[in-house]
Amino acid sequence: MKTGSCVGITLKGIGVSPGIVIGKALIIPEEGVEVPAFCHLEDSFLLHEIERFKRAVKISQEQLQRLRAKILQNKKGREHVHIIDAYIMMLYDEMLIEDTIKTIKREKVNAEWALKMVLRGIREFFDKTEDEYLRERGADIEHIGDRILRNLIGKRRDKITDIDEEVIVVAKDLAPTDTVQLSKDKVKGFVTVMGGRTSHTAIVARSMEIPAVVGLENIMTLLRNGDTVIVDGTSGTVVINPSMEVIREYEWHKKQFFSYEKSLHNYSELPAETIDGKRIRLMGNVEFLNEIGQLTDHGAEGIGLYRTEFLYLGRTDLPTEEEHLSACKKVAERVSPHPTIIRTLDLGGDKFTSNLGYEKEVNPAMGLRAIRLCMKRPDVFKTQLKGILRASVFGNIKIMFPMISGVAEFLGALKVFEEAKSELRREKKPFDPDVEVGIMIEVPSAAIVADHLAKHVAFFSIGTNDLLQYCLAIDRGNEHVDYLYEPLHPALLRTIKGVIDVANRAGIDVSVCGEMAGDPSCTMALLALGLKQLSMNALAILRVKKIVRSIRYSDMMSLGEKILEFSTTSEVESYINYEMKSRFEGVLI
Ligand code: PEP
Ligand code: MG
Repeated sequence: MKTGSCVGITLKGIGVSPGIVIGKALIIPEEGVEVPAFCHLEDSFLLHEIERFKRAVKISQEQLQRLRAKILQNKKGREHVHIIDAYIMMLYDEMLIEDTIKTIKREKVNAEWALKMVLRGIREFFDKTEDEYLRERGADIEHIGDRILRNLIGKRRDKITDIDEEVIVVAKDLAPTDTVQLSKDKVKGFVTVMGGRTSHTAIVARSMEIPAVVGLENIMTLLRNGDTVIVDGTSGTVVINPSMEVIREYEWHKKQFFSYEKSLHNYSELPAETIDGKRIRLMGNVEFLNEIGQLTDHGAEGIGLYRTEFLYLGRTDLPTEEEHLSACKKVAERVSPHPTIIRTLDLGGDKFTSNLGYEKEVNPAMGLRAIRLCMKRPDVFKTQLKGILRASVFGNIKIMFPMISGVAEFLGALKVFEEAKSELRREKKPFDPDVEVGIMIEVPSAAIVADHLAKHVAFFSIGTNDLLQYCLAIDRGNEHVDYLYEPLHPALLRTIKGVIDVANRAGIDVSVCGEMAGDPSCTMALLALGLKQLSMNALAILRVKKIVRSIRYSDMMSLGEKILEFSTTSEVESYINYEMKSRFEGVLI
């Protein structure tokens, strides 16, 4: 422990990737280096400074090219290489490179100081813009400027790639270039000040199974390099310099967690079937293509949600029809003959920033998000639909529109879908003409008019993350109202039940693909409401399968009736807990 370190402090953040890890903290400092200033330089020195600057740019290009090659060798991170490409492109940015050279000449200063002045100007320029996308591009240019500065000065930032011992990374935020290069062998866990459940950091942590906690405001001031930290990504707890007693306690929890996870692998090959033989379809949620292997290993019977917006992130251009085709083809081929449900673009809102150039909104969760954004940019929407349609000849593809609020909106989207088909016919590009189109039920109005919608759509997929957000009017990313984020709230249970009943009457499929589907404490409630299809992340499949295999389906109907009678979440929870404990002794930890 270092002088001035905190002892035994427990902090609560957002656990975004489960598991417990105990290790030494490595603080990744915020970017920024001390810059020497030399003014009134003679002309001969200025030429030298320009040469130094050009050389630093060249070194930066070479470093990024090496990084690019390294990423390409690594199966896991390959699809992120476009992020590095975008950074390489920025090294040719006129605003940065030409302006720095001009500043050296005009102000007669050294290269570092000129670059620093230019970077400050860029920061001021982008800070003034209200457009979040542009502001992010400003931050990217700063990252690149910082790299050149380090190459000029000869200093290197502690980097995740340079880590040669096992550590827990602590950072304000992790740049995309850092997160895609994480080595699971060295980075045992990480903790960040910024980020939410859907941040890049959280997504990479989950897909790599690295325990992680985000949203810890004071962590950078409370921790010193080398401090011992416990990261419990399941509960979102971080303990700084714990006592031996606390370490022993967490070691015990860790062992329990490992043996539980290990025991779950016995379920990989087994069907998701209740004791009395009712088959439940467990499917996978996918953000990145490298998650598919684990899903199929765990016995997922298809992909219930492919979140395609990740194809649009970390780049300055938009994905082409060919890129959509290639990504969707890969998923469908791997998963076939099981279905792959591809959700069309769900950018906007509080989750992700858009690279479609729209300005930040006052109330983004209720703004130009998902299908609304697609209808505003039918060109972008159609490009994606054409790519997905073309992939349909390679597997069992279904398409799903997010955030549908009513029939007219669905029919509007369907019109673009039909146009996409007509264009493909004209272009003589093959596709399956019978691809099913369904919708996500995540806006309360869609649940209310589900009977009307059921006449037009092939299936419903209930997005409980948003349905709960909009039903209870709570921002899903706001920690102050997090206490209201209750998946077993009677209002949500009734809404789900209503949608299931409508789907059953109409004879269409209904599933749940929100986080609730992968939460074992909700499995019994969902089955009791009548669901037979659930879609979740890879880790959750085995846990939920274990619960499913411990349930007697014939008990579910009466249980469903009972839970709908309760007026508060805590009543539902205690009833479910009691039922779970009495039925599956030893199944839960
Ligand atoms: C949901 O809202 O439940 C859902 C699955 O979609 P997302 O989390 O991507 O908004
Ligand atoms: Mg949603």
